[in-house]
Amino acid sequence: MKAKKHLGQNFLKSGKALRDIILAAKISGEDIVVEIGPGKGALTEKVLESAGKVIAIEKDEELIPVLEEKFKEEIKSKKLILLKDDILTFDLSKLPKKYKIVANIPFYITGAILEKFLESKYQPSVMALIVQKEVAERVVARDGKESILSMSVRVFGEPKFVSKIPARYFSPEPKVDSAILLIENIKNTLKESQKDEFFRLVKGGFSQKRKTLIKNLSGLGIKRELLEEKFKELSLDQNIRAEKLSLSDWLLLLKSI
Ligand code: SAM
Repeated sequence: MKAKKHLGQNFLKSGKALRDIILAAKISGEDIVVEIGPGKGALTEKVLESAGKVIAIEKDEELIPVLEEKFKEEIKSKKLILLKDDILTFDLSKLPKKYKIVANIPFYITGAILEKFLESKYQPSVMALIVQKEVAERVVARDGKESILSMSVRVFGEPKFVSKIPARYFSPEPKVDSAILLIENIKNTLKESQKDEFFRLVKGGFSQKRKTLIKNLSGLGIKRELLEEKFKELSLDQNIRAEKLSLSDWLLLLKSI
């Protein structure tokens, strides 16, 4: 069967990468693991060895019979629930209360997956994901520069860059390297009523990279004098740029403006 590019199909063929993601997610027999895009089941097989139960959601209907055949026993014993569905439209309220996500996700929907699971009322406790290496680096702000992406993840959990996975560990080989991104301690830091304002502030703050945060935020219609006063109260440099502001300072700003 030919891999489908439009579904981001790059199948893992490295035992080491499989072991590393399982270890990172600290899966135990009590865990219910949700896997996005089981593909031909390489990662599913490893997750099944350590988790109590696995729910695997695959969009490609051609892969369903392959998985049904491979995991006949596990499906029969209900250790594996295999669902043919699109993760982007899947109703997360159908998932158990507590679960972990472990997945080698298709690159083309990385942002949408992070947003859907982290912003949901039905969040996972942990996400261990294989993503494009540069994305993992940006999420953890490896170069010391925060971004809309890093703040959008950090406000819900603690991201960690676990390890690089070279492109040659996949078949077919993608053009870029990947990495294991772990997000732990996921919780709803923001109240439902604060979410829109938080993202409005962050997006506004990063709107023009070279400009100071005060200048960018005043572009949102917030009075410059008010911003200068609040920055003084919070002991923030008046010339600070958004990329240097920590999550705790963003949250203080959110409360005070
Ligand atoms: N888990 C397998 C592995 O590691 O070898 C396959 C990973 S491959 C990068 C991504 C998988 O996600 C493919 O099986 C693809 O068909 C599936 N997929 C793509 N878009 C999807 C979507 N919207 N919902 C669910 N699965 C999707």
